Amino acid sequence: MSLTPGNGPVQISAEQIRARIVELAAKIRADYAGKEPHLICVLNGAFMFHTDLVRALDMPATIDFMQASSYGSAKQSSGEVRLVKDLSFPISDRHVIMVDDIVDTGITMNYLLHYLGGRGPASLRVAALLSKPSRRKVEVPVEYLGFTIPDAFVYGYGLDRDQMDRNMPFITSQAD
Ligand code: IMP
Repeated sequence: MSLTPGNGPVQISAEQIRARIVELAAKIRADYAGKEPHLICVLNGAFMFHTDLVRALDMPATIDFMQASSYGSAKQSSGEVRLVKDLSFPISDRHVIMVDDIVDTGITMNYLLHYLGGRGPASLRVAALLSKPSRRKVEVPVEYLGFTIPDAFVYGYGLDRDQMDRNMPFITSQAD
């Protein structure tokens, strides 16, 4: 789903997010029928999306959390990824879905996919609320995507602006 195709600011309302998550959950439910997906939240930015997606799933599922850092400064990726928090549970033979807030350059998710791919999951897919394809440096497959957005710094609904505004229920690129 694409948003703000022009040059206007990105604005995704709480209602738009909620409706899109219901759609993504339905797709996951259908794709994983008869299985128990294991949804891994990529902290910190995905905490709200992960919570709402898992809650909307309405099927047997398990969760875990991990954290990686790829940012040298607040807004510019260093290109180097550091694992800050590893998983708490093994993923061998599990149907894993990585849940992230946004795929920007793709460097973080590419690193995590390679890292987790080596641990023998039965399958490994990505769910991301947002994607900025124009910023991509590494291609990563995103099977479950909320919204495609233009190259703008966004915050709210889990995404931070200097660690603030994660608790806003909507997403915006507008400075106040
Ligand atoms: P990537 O490795 O460049 O794809 O960056 C991934 C991470 O950078 C995301 O999980 C976010 O934490 C952060 N990030 C990228 N773009 C934004 C943004 O517009 N707002 C807030 N965080 C962002």
